[in-house]
Amino acid sequence: MTLTEKLLARAAGKAQVQAGDNLWVSADVLMTHDICGPGTIGVFRREFGATAKVWDRRRVVIIPDHYIFTADSKSNRNVDLLREFAREQELPYFYDVVDGASGAWKFDPSKGLLARQHGSRYAGVCHAALPAKGHTRPGEVLFGTDSHTCMAGAFNEFATGIGNTDAGFVMGTGKLLIKVPETMLFRLEGRLQPGVMAKDIILHLIGEIGFDGATYRALQFDGPGVAWLSMDDRMTIANMAIEAGGKNGIFPFDGRTAEYIEARTKLNGTKQTYEPVEADRDQKFVQEITVDLSNLEPTVACHPDPGQRKTVKEMGGLKLDRAYLGSCTGGKTSDFVEAARVLQGQRVTIDTFGVPATPDIVHELQTTRWGEETIWEVLVAAGVRMTENAGCAACLGGPVDTFGRINQPGLKCISATNRNFPGRMGDKESRVYLASPATVAASAIAGQVADPREYLPN
Ligand code: SF4
Repeated sequence: MTLTEKLLARAAGKAQVQAGDNLWVSADVLMTHDICGPGTIGVFRREFGATAKVWDRRRVVIIPDHYIFTADSKSNRNVDLLREFAREQELPYFYDVVDGASGAWKFDPSKGLLARQHGSRYAGVCHAALPAKGHTRPGEVLFGTDSHTCMAGAFNEFATGIGNTDAGFVMGTGKLLIKVPETMLFRLEGRLQPGVMAKDIILHLIGEIGFDGATYRALQFDGPGVAWLSMDDRMTIANMAIEAGGKNGIFPFDGRTAEYIEARTKLNGTKQTYEPVEADRDQKFVQEITVDLSNLEPTVACHPDPGQRKTVKEMGGLKLDRAYLGSCTGGKTSDFVEAARVLQGQRVTIDTFGVPATPDIVHELQTTRWGEETIWEVLVAAGVRMTENAGCAACLGGPVDTFGRINQPGLKCISATNRNFPGRMGDKESRVYLASPATVAASAIAGQVADPREYLPN
């Protein structure tokens, strides 16, 4: 069996399964957020009763992250609904925006968009927060009401996005009927060149198969090249499995996985035991693709979908209006470190926004020093508008006052995010070009799509 088949077989209590089987699978964790949480809770109450309790209060994780730092009252109300539900259900893992058991978030204009406007428990973007807060473990099943839930496949678990109706059912029963997906193997060989990042790997691969090339399939990443990839790199790659239509993305378990998981589960008092899955010898793949990482170039996905691949060279210096560093995919510490390496001593020439994925990442960037300066200061000195209000921000457009949202038609934005369908970051007439944080940084300096290797120190 493949890694995904083994995980699903275990979660269904079966010795053997194959692609196409329909299984009742037990969930280890259900995650929801402010966009889908209220709908999920509505389904749960309708189907299980107004006074019903969730199937396991330690396994329901609620992370407001999408439309948080906005004066939009309907968005604020969504977070209030989550707070009420978490209190009523006594959920230990609700990462509220404000401190205290009651009290809605309100925008403080005296602080503005850049200074911190959240409480001490707030965790930031759900997919980055889940592992950081110790909710991802090898060998487990994670369901989340968000398509990029597949990011947790980096940790050798089955993680997939589900709709509100399914999530309401999981909330009440802890189970879900899943069809076992076929598995595609992506064999990674060699090692990335300086200036080329994990984002370039996944943009290259989606370009190979198209934005629907893995529809309802598991994307299994394997091969000697995996050993060179950090957990942040693996998260970037697994995150974008859905951008090729995938059901889930999955990596093998190794020492790096163990080190990350053991540190994070201890930090937050979550379950520390786990049982990874290992690949069988007789795995059956529906398709196999091998890529030599050392041959990859800085890569861009052009408007209007993540499969529109071009190398930076092929972009011919396309002129840009804006650059954006952030999201679950491109707003991790290592993403900002790579961007800062390109931006150090340089100055951006177009509007450039920086939104870390979590408050912990803000803290790391503000406390890690390169000589006299912190990484945060390097970015700010280069002209990046860095906000301490970690979250999804403009990755999903959001209300009109969202930080970094594209509000003018026709703007061309290069972005470290993961999706570029029309209107994704705001105005429907804008164009979003997906790239690595290093390429976004180089392009912000040049005002056109640019190769980060031209700006890296020797
Ligand atoms: S950062 Fe973007 S892709 Fe990630 S969860 Fe938020 S809206 Fe979705």
